[in-house]
Order: sequence, then C-alpha cells, then structure tokens
Amino acid sequence: MVNTRKCAVIGCGFVGSTTAFTLMQNGLFSEIVLIDANEKKASGEAMDLNHGMLFAKPARIYSGQYKDVADCQVVIIAAGAAQKPGETRIDLVKKNTAIFKTIISEILRYNTTCILLVVTNPVDILTYVTRRLSGFDSNRVIGSGTVLDTARLRFLVGEHLRVDARNVDAMVIGEHGDSELAVWSRASISGVPAKDFCANCGKCLNMHEMNHLFDDVKQSAYRIIESKGATYYAVALAVTRIIEAITRDENSVLTVSVFPEGRYGLKDVCLGLPAIVGKNGIVQVLEIPLSDEEKEKLYQSAKTLQEIADGLDL
Ligand code: NAD
Repeated sequence: MVNTRKCAVIGCGFVGSTTAFTLMQNGLFSEIVLIDANEKKASGEAMDLNHGMLFAKPARIYSGQYKDVADCQVVIIAAGAAQKPGETRIDLVKKNTAIFKTIISEILRYNTTCILLVVTNPVDILTYVTRRLSGFDSNRVIGSGTVLDTARLRFLVGEHLRVDARNVDAMVIGEHGDSELAVWSRASISGVPAKDFCANCGKCLNMHEMNHLFDDVKQSAYRIIESKGATYYAVALAVTRIIEAITRDENSVLTVSVFPEGRYGLKDVCLGLPAIVGKNGIVQVLEIPLSDEEKEKLYQSAKTLQEIADGLDL
C-alpha cells in the first residue's frame, strides 16, 4: 500500500541531501528514506537532518535500503557522478546510465507504482533511460528538466528590470544543458510582453540584452561549479517545487523533462517542456505557440538528445 506521505531520496550527495533538507522544512512528507551506495554518508546525512528536526516539520528521516522504497509515493534519484569543472552534462552520460541500470532494477524489485523523479545529469537522457528501464507510463517518469533554468532566467530578468521574479513569465525549454532555449516570444512581465516592457521601466530588454541574460543562464552551472564545486541549493528548491505540485495535486505548469508524446512533432526523447503536474505526475504536456526560430531550436535540442540516447545500450 502506497504511503502518500513517504518519499525516498536515492543519492545523498550535495543535491540529494540538500533536497532532503528542503523537503524536511517544507513538511510535504512525514517519512523520508535516504539511500546511497555510500551507506555511511546516508546515515550521517540522516543524523544531521534529524538533529534539526525540532526547528522544522516533524518527519521520520532515516538511512535505508531499497526494500524501504516499497511504499513510497515518490522516488527522487540524485545518485551518480557529478559534473566536473569543464565537463559537459553529456560527458556524464555513459557513467550515469550504468549506475541507473542498477538503481532502477533495485527500485522495481520493491515498487512499481511510484513516481520516479530524476535529477541526475544529463537529466533528459537519464529520464529517457529511466522510462525505458522501468517500463512505467510516461506520466510517472519525470525529470527536473529546465525548471531550474527557468527559475534562473526569471531571476535574472527580474533583477535586470528590477521586478519581482514571480511577476516574470518566461520559460526555458529543451535540453537542461547547452542546447536549451528561452521562449522569448511568449515572455511577459505581468501581462506586458517582455519586448514592450522597457517603455514602462526605462531598462532595456532588447534582443541583445535577452541574449546576454540567457547566456548567463546557460553559463550558471559552469560558473557555480567552478567557484564552489557543485550546485545544490537552487536545484533542491526546484525539485521540492515539483514534489509540491505532485503531493498537493496542484496541476501546476512546470518545465519538467517529459516524453512529448508527439507534441511539437517530437517523439522518443525526453526534454524540458511546459507540463501540468499533479498527483499522478504528468497530467498533460502543453503545446505552446513558438516562433519559427524557437521551433527550429527545440527541434535541434531534441535531435542532440536523440542522437545521444540512440548510442546507449538499453
Ligand atoms: P555528489 O557526488 O555529491 O553525490 C552523488 C551521490 O550519489 C554520492 O553520495 C554517491 O555516493 C551516490 N551514488 C553513486 N552511485 C550510486 C549508486 N549506484 N547508488 C546510490 N548512490 C550512488 O553529486 P551531486 O552534486 O549531489 O550531484 C548529483 C547529480 O545531480 C549529478 O549528476 C549532478 O550533475 C546532478 N545535478 C542535476 C541538476 C539538475 O538541474 N538536474 C542540478 C545540479 C546537479
């Protein structure tokens, strides 16, 4: 029997443990099991988190084994090798696919009804790998996709225009990585198209500025990794936001990594697209109108991912 108040975090490195930390503060689960190939690390993280429980929302947090995923509603996978300085996410693909073969088969031994939420990079490829290895319906295999990139873009646009990022409606879609694209044709600030906003605030958001801001988004992970070795706070909050949409059955639109199921003319690939997320995972992938240039970039992004996925032994 599924416990809708229970999740597992597989891989308790920077990303997994920070995600457990944000989930604990959020109170979305009453039971969180931490699993890592390095059992000592998982148990140390559980101990540390438990010592802060008094100041958070009560939950049972412990390090466990794969049998403990049996009744989980959501299994978050953040296990694997991390991106090294100068290494692209795609470089990681073979290493992490091999790790996923073990992890997915272990999860399936105990739970075939959960929602699998993939965070490990390259996240779009590994979401695809997870779908293929698990055989789950596509609504129950979700990648964190470009939720983080979208948050980065909204933050940077907000900062540039001196407007609350929550009033910036903009999204990044495609690969969580170098071939992603910003959907500028649909971007708006409280209903005012982004390109018209400068008239209101005097701060220019012309194509040159837009490209500059989007370059910053694309370089973010590289810069953070170069400065401090890993990125984890923002991604943990992004993952928690996806989980919130699931556990609260919000039907929120998030740019998660999904199977497009023919939308945008795309098939047999996973990539970041706006999708409605609720208690059963993906409710619907939204097909938003794109400019011809954006359509072409999305197609190229999907092609890049498809070529990598085709080279995998699944
Ligand atoms: P990390 O090295 O700190 O942690 C990885 C953890 O996985 C380690 O604790 C390791 O012991 C564990 N692990 C390795 N093999 C395992 C296995 N077979 N079973 C269980 N656990 C295993 O790395 P990190 O900084 O936490 O990053 C984790 C992943 O998240 C990386 O792939 C990274 O690129 C990715 N990431 C994704 C996003 C995103 O937006 N999707 C953002 C940041 C990082």
